[in-house]
Amino acid sequence: MPQASSMPQASSMQHARVRSAVLIGVQAHVVDVEVDIGVGLPGLAIVGLPDTSVGEARERVRTAIRNAGFTWPDRRVTVALGPAGLPKRGAGLDLAIACAVLAAQGTLDPRALAGMLIVGELRLDGTVHAVPGALAMALCAREIGVGVIMPGRMAAEARLLPGLVVRHLDALVAAVRGGGAPDGGGGAAALLGPSGGGAAPAPGPATGASDHDRHPVTPLEPLPDLADVRGHDAARLALEVAAAGGHHLAMVGPPGVGKSLLAERMPGLLPPLTDAERVAVLAVHGAVDSPLRASVAAGRPTFIAPHHTVGRTAMVGGGSGMDVRVGLVTLAHRGVLFLDEAAEFPGSVLDALRQPLEAGRIVVHRTGFRATLPAEFQLLLASNPCPCGPPPGGQCACTPHARRRYLTRISGPILDRIDIRLTLRAPSRAELRGPAGEASATIATRIRVARERAAHRLAAGGWLLNARVPGAHLRHLPPPAGSHLLDDALDRGRLSPRGVDRVLRVAWTCADLNGRSRPDSDDVGLALALRDPHGAWTG
Ligand SMILES: [Zn+2]
Repeated sequence: MPQASSMPQASSMQHARVRSAVLIGVQAHVVDVEVDIGVGLPGLAIVGLPDTSVGEARERVRTAIRNAGFTWPDRRVTVALGPAGLPKRGAGLDLAIACAVLAAQGTLDPRALAGMLIVGELRLDGTVHAVPGALAMALCAREIGVGVIMPGRMAAEARLLPGLVVRHLDALVAAVRGGGAPDGGGGAAALLGPSGGGAAPAPGPATGASDHDRHPVTPLEPLPDLADVRGHDAARLALEVAAAGGHHLAMVGPPGVGKSLLAERMPGLLPPLTDAERVAVLAVHGAVDSPLRASVAAGRPTFIAPHHTVGRTAMVGGGSGMDVRVGLVTLAHRGVLFLDEAAEFPGSVLDALRQPLEAGRIVVHRTGFRATLPAEFQLLLASNPCPCGPPPGGQCACTPHARRRYLTRISGPILDRIDIRLTLRAPSRAELRGPAGEASATIATRIRVARERAAHRLAAGGWLLNARVPGAHLRHLPPPAGSHLLDDALDRGRLSPRGVDRVLRVAWTCADLNGRSRPDSDDVGLALALRDPHGAWTG
């Protein structure tokens, strides 16, 4: 600037810098918010790749500060958001911008903001509202070693993280008021509200005060229980083995035979999420304001069951431009993804599952940034045996060709990762009249013990579940007692080399469930049977 040297007021330029964050996908990224109050025509400029929603912060911040009873500087205010390449979306930067302006003009002591990451949306009346992604932002803050200041509803979620300073807005209210004690719950919402009178905080659950603090949490519905399922002994066993080893499972059977009924019971068999898993999954669900948050917070693995008309982006996420969409596979992270009518899903959607099935995540590359969406889920597939889907006992109207082709729509690379395959038949009348089956809780206990056994054995390799163990590692172990069965199947062409690996993985899970230190011929025989060698699945 050529006229800079002639500016006598240069020394009176006021400056402040605070930290905030934006969400990209399900991860929060730090944004530096710098404010300069300098000479020039009064006005407010925001620079640093803001999208329109951040552009609108100009009006929200200026009006909120005035309506809260403070003065807006009658000078040139420049807000710089960095790093420049990062897309900045949403209203969550409002509070940080307002705090930086108040600090730059000396209204707010910068020491109240130091070492904190500040997030929240401002309304025109000066109230502060929650934005999605509290836990993701808290994780980001912990990673860089700072605390967080956020509205109560967000703070309640962020407090799940140990070792993180979480300040409710009350602390900032006190700081704005020169250290005076904040008044009751209302002060939390009207962060920038003047100390006497002023705008009342807006009512409603989105205001700063935490609704978690005030209302008892609604109890969750009990999970569907296997005790309600009659018959289906083979399927019950397959579900138990799948849950114990983390194996993907595919089942085929006529409509109404009970495929969904069985699949829905998987979450009740899986162990509850560990604390670390709960935080990771809740960060995902908090980022998209998902209705499953309460269930995840209670430690339940998610059960995501999309309709077969779902599109590719909705399924795996991604999208285009600055937008990073979170897909259903990410909502199923550490839980179950159930594809009913699997053969009816478009081939492109099924193929898109390959990356998450292989890597446990989706990586989105964009100019200037990269987003990683976690997507480590257990896949359950179900299908009718043919396109017409005859009722149990009914006649199939399909040509033999159509029947043969139907299941091959589920392509080899997907089916290749499915260790357990199953053909269901309708339970007999005697089975339906028979005694109730074992309850999920009883089976879950066996599953937990088997998982502990596997985790202990696999710890050296860094795995937790048999399903994740690479084939090369399996083949280096001493062959199990029944491995002649595998050699036999391999020689006769009934098993491919990769098929042998899959059977070995399942055999180890069977051994874990049976309390054996390594598989015996019974375990290998069961694992072979769980591949459904005479059923509808091929490949
Ligand atoms: Zn048919």
